[in-house]
Amino acid sequence: MDTIGANLQAVKARIATAAAQCGRDPAGIQLLAVSKTFDAGAVRAARAAGQRAFGENYLQEAIDKIAALAESDLIWHFIGPIQSNKTRQIAAHFDWVHSVDRLRIAERLSAARSAAQPPLQICLQVNIGDENSKSGVAPAEAPALARALAALPRLCLRGLMSIPPASDDPRVQRGYFSQLRALRDALVAQGLALDTLSMGMSADLESAIAEGSTMVRVGTAIFGTRQQH
Ligand SMILES: *Cc1c(COP(=O)(O)O)cnc(C)c1O
Repeated sequence: MDTIGANLQAVKARIATAAAQCGRDPAGIQLLAVSKTFDAGAVRAARAAGQRAFGENYLQEAIDKIAALAESDLIWHFIGPIQSNKTRQIAAHFDWVHSVDRLRIAERLSAARSAAQPPLQICLQVNIGDENSKSGVAPAEAPALARALAALPRLCLRGLMSIPPASDDPRVQRGYFSQLRALRDALVAQGLALDTLSMGMSADLESAIAEGSTMVRVGTAIFGTRQQH
């Protein structure tokens, strides 16, 4: 088996072990392969090993890759910062967007999403634990923004996403992830139908799964170390 295929199997084994340790069904945890900075050949190798969902951060790089792989049955997730002048292309080329954190951007995505496509599946990105990061809505402002996003016609709000500060300590990791889960639970209690918690990456997916992650976004553990972009 090639390296990417072997890495994918190893990540799936980590997901299964983490799920078993907290009594969860591993089928409730989707794996998003983050292919940013890697070429279409790497994506093809992952597809050959059974992976269909891919995450990308950089729009032009992603569009080139999506075009090169147009013949295959891939599901593309945009997970990077969104510039307002890029919303039309994001709405045209992606199935999911995890990094929505402003109403203005969401309105533009909704307006740009064609009626010929299914609604764009989105997550609201929340800034958990990182006062210095400009990405993500503040937790206190998340409920009002989530209600506004849920009302937009061409978007389907699926849940919450976060990139908490990196920590080597599983207790610290779990503390952040549990805050995102509590926020999701509060929104569900208010009547929003949210089935997705997009949290956990190569270094902390076990902690995220223990706190209820339904989608882990894994790059390095599948494709290897990235060069600086
Ligand atoms: C790059 C990236 C990932 C993957 O990170 P790894 O540590 O390589 O697994 C996940 N989520 C987002 C938003 C990213 O930008």
